[in-house]
Amino acid sequence: MSETEMSHSFDVDLFVIGGGSGGVRAARIAAGHGAKVMLAEEYRVGGTCVIRGCVPKKLMVYASRFTDEFEDAAGFGWHLETPRFDWAVLKRSRDAEVARLEAIYGRNLAGAGVEVVADRAVIEDPHTVRLVKADRTVRARFILIATGATPVREPLIPGADLAIDSNGVFELERQPERILVVGGGYIAVEFAGVFAGLGSKTTLLHRGKSLLRGFDPEIADALGEAYAKRMDLRLERTVERLERDGSAIRATLNGGESLTVDCVLVATGRRPNVAGLGLERVGIALDARGAIPVEADSRTKVPSIYAVGDVNGRAALTPVAIREGHAFADTVFGRKPWCVDHRLIATAVFSTPEIGVIGHNEDVARRCYDAIDVYKASFRPMKATLSGRDERVIMKVLVDRASDRVVGVHVMGPDAGEIIQAVGIAVTMGATKADFDRTIAVHPTLGEELVTMR
Ligand code: FAD
Ligand code: NDP
Repeated sequence: MSETEMSHSFDVDLFVIGGGSGGVRAARIAAGHGAKVMLAEEYRVGGTCVIRGCVPKKLMVYASRFTDEFEDAAGFGWHLETPRFDWAVLKRSRDAEVARLEAIYGRNLAGAGVEVVADRAVIEDPHTVRLVKADRTVRARFILIATGATPVREPLIPGADLAIDSNGVFELERQPERILVVGGGYIAVEFAGVFAGLGSKTTLLHRGKSLLRGFDPEIADALGEAYAKRMDLRLERTVERLERDGSAIRATLNGGESLTVDCVLVATGRRPNVAGLGLERVGIALDARGAIPVEADSRTKVPSIYAVGDVNGRAALTPVAIREGHAFADTVFGRKPWCVDHRLIATAVFSTPEIGVIGHNEDVARRCYDAIDVYKASFRPMKATLSGRDERVIMKVLVDRASDRVVGVHVMGPDAGEIIQAVGIAVTMGATKADFDRTIAVHPTLGEELVTMR
């Protein structure tokens, strides 16, 4: 788009609603293409990932894993005094790091020429956004909805307001001695691992038969086995009600049993953040999951309005939101149209032990291909020979027999996320099992198992 084409009869070329992963990337790239961009953020620039998601969560994961290191060290000859964990130190350092990143995001936007307004924005019509606090409207050639998602507060049981959600975890001033985590998805599994590692007496309670629905069943079961040794894991259980019990909370479970804990964390999913956004004023209806339906290029049914990231319900992961924001900006403002390929997305669950995945799980692969070959390794990592840790590493490689292409890789064990990031390049390139086989191993590593499976 040329300079003269832009900025004509509109206040801005692009108005971005939401300063998270997708919105920030789209704003910066669009500004780099010469667009006049304004971005509204109602909470803190950086969004979920930076402020109350991936980043502070991963810092807590790191903190929680020292416990294993301390225990494992003894087998290697180390004598440690009993380590003591200080929640206040972790919280202070974590919050300072988040604030540092928030400032960097703000500076980068300003440096790119994006005008950032600390306000809530709602849609008035296909080209108009209203800033709620400032009570003024802005006319925009394009509007990008990048409002992310928020935790759902379900199940809606009596006493539900005594529980916290993932946002509340980052506000806890004190470490709960006893915590009940409800849910079996990414967030429940990750935080249960964090609290157990930090020494809280942790109960993870999930309504399903196994954790992490949608993941490879063998990997999900293996995580269940590992978690059953690390915490009180209760599957096929639900919470019926929560009540105050002095300064504690009593949770009554199905079947009548009750648990007394200091904190209940409900992590039962997230919902696209669209409440009060004004979508009905422009005729955008939500899909069955409450997400904004979009085309491959993230365009909604209104030609001037696009939606990227969690709000469109395609894949609620930061790298996906970033990629969608980038593709949108290149396509609309850079004369470089491209679409994000959502078919192969590598992902990691930062449980302890960690999980890394790319491609199909075994059930799906069997449905998608006439015949698949399954290569598996389940082994005790070398480190465990001296540490004595009783935890296995599991790896699975799924291969389409007809083409020899690797269609799924699943890893559970230390650094699974790092392993899957690297192997994900090969799988994305269309690697065959023969390609894996001719790759010379790096020895001794965990990852070498992926190229030595026969
Ligand atoms: P967000 O980052 O949520 O940004 C949306 C922004 O819009 C928010 O800042 C919000 O305040 C603002 N906003 C909303 N409505 C308005 C409005 N009307 N006006 C102005 N501003 C508004 N993903 C990973 O890939 N790896 C991980 O390890 C990971 N860990 C996670 C851990 C937790 C606890 C959570 C909750 C999520 C995690 N995620 C992780 C998911 C990841 O955070 C999201 O997929 C990602 O942040 C989505 O980016 P987004 O731009 O769509 O939305
Ligand atoms: P998920 O959708 O992953 O998991 C929700 C869990 O809650 C499921 O186990 C579900 O059970 C359970 N559940 C849903 N409703 C109820 C209910 N009414 N009662 C009891 N249990 C219920 O959501 P999360 O909140 O864990 O995470 C949201 C998304 O954020 C993730 O899907 C992921 O995309 C992203 N994320 C990514 C991370 C990463 O990349 N490492 C980390 C954290 C989040 P069931 O399976 O039976 O439906």
